[in-house]
Amino acid sequence: MAILPIITVPDPLLKKVSKPVKKVDDQLRTFLDDMLSTMYAAPGIGLAAIQVGILKRILVMDISPDGEEADPQFFINPEITWTSDDMATYNEGCLSVPEQYADIERPAQCKFKYLDYHGKSQKVHATGLLATCIQHEMDHLNGIVFIDYLSKVKRSMYVRKVKKLAKDNE
Ligand code: ZN
Repeated sequence: MAILPIITVPDPLLKKVSKPVKKVDDQLRTFLDDMLSTMYAAPGIGLAAIQVGILKRILVMDISPDGEEADPQFFINPEITWTSDDMATYNEGCLSVPEQYADIERPAQCKFKYLDYHGKSQKVHATGLLATCIQHEMDHLNGIVFIDYLSKVKRSMYVRKVKKLAKDNE
């Protein structure tokens, strides 16, 4: 399994809308496995294909608590079908905005459908961290990063910090 390079803001690719997957086959599953190892290596709890530069509607996630058994999840062509009126705030971070965090408000619950690792169609009613995480990752598929919800001033401050971090790591 390969570890893929993760792109960071302000990479223009992160603004692009990803395209639906046409077929879930072994070739795609190899990519899913690579995405998962990339996410674990980062380490992170969620990763969208666009974050490794691939414009496909694919997410991988593992929100199992620290110290518990791994619970990798794969979401292909995910679609949110309902969001609750009640909202929840979570201190979000993102592998494409390394080491920066911000409180983001989103619907506390959502329902979504997707294709799983085997191409089987699934439906979920998500609450808690899963609801937050799936909405954050779904945003990536539509060209949105969590800092886009912040003021322009704050957003450019975050981008500046990420650029500096990238330069320091060169
Ligand atoms: Zn993210």
